[in-house]
Amino acid sequence: MSDSYGPATAGGGIVVVGAGLAGPVAALYLARRHGRVTVLERHADPRRIPAGQGRSLMVILSERGRRVLRELGLEAAVRRICAPITGRCGHLPDGSTAVTPYSRDGAAIWAVERQALHRLLLDAAEAEPGVDLRFDHPVLAVDPAAPALLVGAGGAERWVRCRHVIGCDGVHSAVRGALVERGARARVSTLELAYQEIVLDLPDCDRGVMHYWPAGDALFGAFPQVSSRRFAGSVFFRREGPRPSYRAAVGGRALAEQFAAVFPRLAAGIPDLEEQLGAKPVSAVRLTRCDRWVLGGTAALVGDSCHAMAPFMGQGMNAAFEDVRTLVACLDRERDWERAFAAYERIRKGDGDAIADISYRHYWTMSRLPDPQHEAEEAIARRLVDLMPERFRPLYERCAFSEESYSLALTEEHRLRELARRILSRHGAGAAELPDPQLRAFAGAG
Ligand SMILES: Cc1cc2nc3c(=O)[nH]c(=O)nc-3n(C[C@H](O)[C@H](O)[C@H](O)COP(=O)(O)OP(=O)(O)OC[C@H]3O[C@@H](n4cnc5c(N)ncnc54)[C@H](O)[C@@H]3O)c2cc1C
Repeated sequence: MSDSYGPATAGGGIVVVGAGLAGPVAALYLARRHGRVTVLERHADPRRIPAGQGRSLMVILSERGRRVLRELGLEAAVRRICAPITGRCGHLPDGSTAVTPYSRDGAAIWAVERQALHRLLLDAAEAEPGVDLRFDHPVLAVDPAAPALLVGAGGAERWVRCRHVIGCDGVHSAVRGALVERGARARVSTLELAYQEIVLDLPDCDRGVMHYWPAGDALFGAFPQVSSRRFAGSVFFRREGPRPSYRAAVGGRALAEQFAAVFPRLAAGIPDLEEQLGAKPVSAVRLTRCDRWVLGGTAALVGDSCHAMAPFMGQGMNAAFEDVRTLVACLDRERDWERAFAAYERIRKGDGDAIADISYRHYWTMSRLPDPQHEAEEAIARRLVDLMPERFRPLYERCAFSEESYSLALTEEHRLRELARRILSRHGAGAAELPDPQLRAFAGAG
């Protein structure tokens, strides 16, 4: 077993696997507290290759992610490349629109071009004393007993010793693979929806909100770009099944026809729709679950390696950043790595699973077409939130504008929904219009 990474692996080294969005964040936190950190990334440095089509053109930063950037001293720099977004505007098939504010006090989330954010994080990590970024260094295997990593670079493979491994290596994580070899149970699945990204002009649309077009089992959503006056949109269709689906429409023309059949008003304003849909890849969304996130004091998983989720809440990266902050806080408290990793898994795994569930369900919230039963339940839930703010808060607000546990937010949401459904079934849709004392009495009795 050779050892060619100098101080990073000469006994006390920390290796972060993956320099996606979470990797540089983990490296920054850890190098400031625990000394040298080597980051091994299988791909070439994205800052040195021409801009290409990545996973999504835009990502949303909410309070959890911003808190991390603030702690790392990067919030002001990131703010300069973001657009504030205060809500979502639904465009219904009948031509009507409805804006849902993201929070009751008008607070904004930040939309940022993924590539610009990624570059900024990599620059910050590279500038940090003690961080050693190595691109074109795929980790092929992890031996937690040594501990050591089998690394490929320049056509050769070699084992590299380290002390602690942080798996920021995404959906197909090699670090998670090592946990699975030691008995962890993991599941990687594919969301039933796939997506394509297109850039479009929406001259009549407010740039202070995101826009979406619900269509039942299809959805189009668009965020204002920061580097242009255009919008970056994503169209989601089912992967399989009859039209509309990616299985049933292949090639630019068929995709454009399918798009126009589902979103006729929108399609009329995109002159190069066929060219764009013909040229852009159809991307699948992978989901991951893993029942163990750590292995002794040797390995810990962070971000998509343990909880890749559907993208509809805009929380995957935010949750990944919060994972890192939680892990580091556990290390601050415990000092001993094994105890700290165990505490991290205990605190965080339930939250990872909860935000994955919330994100999946949010697709139906956004894509659902108007349905009287659902509208009535929503109206009652909104009234309950207004009436009893100390007891209930909107789920989106809890996820995007607070740092409370995602599991708690999900449990409370179930309670709110259950109560709204009970009131609806006992007292009918008119319950949403009842005077405060009466509704409060129903809620108390419910
Ligand atoms: C369409 C879409 C929209 C999204 N929008 C949002 C949003 O608005 N807000 C939000 O918070 N989240 C969003 N997400 C989720 C977000 O992109 C992910 O949660 C986030 O990228 C996770 O970061 P990560 O570092 O864990 O994984 P990744 O960003 O996937 O990084 C993993 C890195 O590890 C590297 N790697 C993998 N295997 C190895 C190996 N064996 N050796 C070395 N390197 C390796 C990969 O090359 C990659 O660079 C969205 C996701 C999608 C698909």
